[in-house]
Amino acid sequence: MKYAQSVLDLIGNTPLIKLNHVTDGIQATVLVKLEYVNPGGSIKDRIAARMIEEAERDGKLKPGGTIIEPTSGNTGVGLALVAQQKGYKCIFVVPDKVGEDKRAVLQAYGAEVVVTPSAVAPDSPQSYYSVSDRLVTEIPGAYKPDQFSNPAAPLSHYESTGPEIWRDTDGRVTHCVIGAGTGGTITGTGRFLKEVSANRAESDGGRVRIIGADPAGSVYSGGTGRPYFVEGVGEDMWPANYDKSVPDQVIAVSDADSFAMTRRLAREEGLLVGGSSGMAVVAALETARDLPEDAVVVVILPDSGRGYLAKIFNDQWMRSYGFLSGGEEASVGEVIK
Ligand code: PMP
Repeated sequence: MKYAQSVLDLIGNTPLIKLNHVTDGIQATVLVKLEYVNPGGSIKDRIAARMIEEAERDGKLKPGGTIIEPTSGNTGVGLALVAQQKGYKCIFVVPDKVGEDKRAVLQAYGAEVVVTPSAVAPDSPQSYYSVSDRLVTEIPGAYKPDQFSNPAAPLSHYESTGPEIWRDTDGRVTHCVIGAGTGGTITGTGRFLKEVSANRAESDGGRVRIIGADPAGSVYSGGTGRPYFVEGVGEDMWPANYDKSVPDQVIAVSDADSFAMTRRLAREEGLLVGGSSGMAVVAALETARDLPEDAVVVVILPDSGRGYLAKIFNDQWMRSYGFLSGGEEASVGEVIK
């Protein structure tokens, strides 16, 4: 019989897939690593598992303990499913601007969601940072993983994502393109790939180049932290888990280009992925354009497009922000009587 012992065994070992249609005019091989096939639907399952294991080992999380994190997105789902399987409670603190749908997903996994007002300063006692800090001190056995500073987050990528890319490309990857949010993925994956290829001959590709992909406006690509619409990536501050020495280059990508590519990936490659995936592919194609045939560019696609149907895949939403330039409508929309 072939089966997994639990969903936890299905985290990681995600597939690489060659892009065949959005790569017109490109000689290099461009491969995407499809993270939405993780059981929680995103790359964040990897860090959730590792952060919880580490906390158990350090005695920070004891049987019956409660995990508390200010998160509404993919990290919450990862933590909720790992916590549930291991018998811990989860409380997520989310600002009220987070949509009902996202809260409902966390609740569906059995997590408790505490909603805080968005329109308050970060140091207000009502802010979601303050509320989560207070809950950690008030609830016995509470533990806050803190994905922005927890070293287990980049470590999970150093030990899984990076080695998987090296193994599945038979050590032939030459460039890896990664979007940065908390910085965990690029720091851990990039560090591993640079180390493992440090002594590779130039004729075999030399050391792997790590390319950061960043929403235009975010600090990683020299912005001020001004707002952008791509979710999950970019920052207005420098998190502890982002190691500036890892990326060889950071490419800024506009919202419009990120979303146009996200839609093309769904329509032309059969990959329904999120906006940060489209953003990373734009940066990868820019990188690959000048590379020879034997270059192998790997791009990490962090999550699925299912969570963005009302935005990126909705013509009205796209048009209202000026992201549709025409000719890209999703459907004809004719009613046949
Ligand atoms: N894309 C999406 C959709 C994400 O949720 C995240 C996590 N914030 C990232 C990319 C970036 O990953 P990291 O936090 O490891 O930099």
